[in-house]
Amino acid sequence: MAAPNNHLSGQPTRSCATGLRCPKCGQTFPLSETEAFCPECSRCLDVTYDYELAAQRLKQLGLAERPQNVWRFDELLPITDAAAQSRVGQVSGFTPLIRAERLGAELGLTNLYIKDDSSNRPSFSYKDRVVSMSVARLLELGKTELGCVSTGNVGHAVSALAAKAGVPAYVFYPNRLEHTKARVCRALGARVCQVDGNYDEANRECRRLSAETGLEFANISLRPFYSEGAKTEGFEIIEQLGWQAPEHIVLPAAGGTLSSRAHKGLKELETVGLAETAHTKIHIAQPDGCSPIAATIVDGRDAIEPVIPTTIAHSLAIGAPGDGMLVVDAVRARGGTAATVTDEEIWAAVDLLGATEGILTEPAGGTAIASLSKLIDAGHIGSDDVTVAVITGNGLKTIEDHPDKPWPTMVPCEVDAMRDALDQLRDGAAAGVGA
Ligand SMILES: [Zn+2]
Repeated sequence: MAAPNNHLSGQPTRSCATGLRCPKCGQTFPLSETEAFCPECSRCLDVTYDYELAAQRLKQLGLAERPQNVWRFDELLPITDAAAQSRVGQVSGFTPLIRAERLGAELGLTNLYIKDDSSNRPSFSYKDRVVSMSVARLLELGKTELGCVSTGNVGHAVSALAAKAGVPAYVFYPNRLEHTKARVCRALGARVCQVDGNYDEANRECRRLSAETGLEFANISLRPFYSEGAKTEGFEIIEQLGWQAPEHIVLPAAGGTLSSRAHKGLKELETVGLAETAHTKIHIAQPDGCSPIAATIVDGRDAIEPVIPTTIAHSLAIGAPGDGMLVVDAVRARGGTAATVTDEEIWAAVDLLGATEGILTEPAGGTAIASLSKLIDAGHIGSDDVTVAVITGNGLKTIEDHPDKPWPTMVPCEVDAMRDALDQLRDGAAAGVGA
């Protein structure tokens, strides 16, 4: 079992975490280790668990007594201090799994579901799950400031969750920062710095900055704990399908944390006896302008070749994905594959999801839906297969990037003119309005 952590209450959670392990060389470290990366091979360390103990504890507390948030199955999460856990993430996770009949009809699927993290809280993306773990870990360590490097959503999640925990936050964005992103972070009390480099360059220098200043970074120095939060996506999908694992899960991929840890979460549910998940195929979705993981999978290579991103899907613009090979291994182990899509296909899919299911997503979600369509066309997904597409972020964040349509026509504010306008809208004749 993990060593008790006395920085806060000293009261334990139900966590069955036992330590950290390098996924490459197998070297192990105590859970109290503060280095995120293996000193031998530089790989990010992975949290290990006592699964026998987890299986016992999972039986002891019924579903009705568990919180509907990221801590629902905390036996399989790395936070061991109950006070740290209680200060973070109470509104995060347990997002809806929506039966997508209308989108399914458009795509030719009868059993399509959307896992809708565009409605995650507090910051409307899947990142609320992973950053909840980072902030709780920060509190466990007794640290009082939090940094992050972000393409957008991590910055929002860090700003919001650090504010709630009473911790100052510093967000480092790469160049081409959109105004909305900085404004959201500032409105949530964070300090924002724009770095004149792309995400991969900013990430590299933030790693040095963290080492030199001691500032903890949610997605760098706290990464082993951060990553574990992504497993909750997998846990929830299986529970919300009545503990019946789907045939397919389609996820957008950037750094690779979500799809690799969804795979780990599914394996863990099988290990502790909650569900049979081995048949579930994981497929990943990337934009044509940044597809280093997809290319490795499709071309059958055994190493990721970094790329310089050029895509409208900024939250997927990571050219040197840290968990890239973990994703490749997970997709291959599960017999899945990958698809890539153009920026035009991404926006068309954003609009299709919006118009059929009423879900507004950012381009990362459009990438998932457009890729799903290609996977169906290529015969990887059958028309009756139970399929879950994960929508990772909210479209209000990126609405300023959305391709413009002609501005709505102005008519006199009087009922006759408006009735005429309505007739035109109904005919689809009024250019750009609701089209
Ligand atoms: Zn190692």
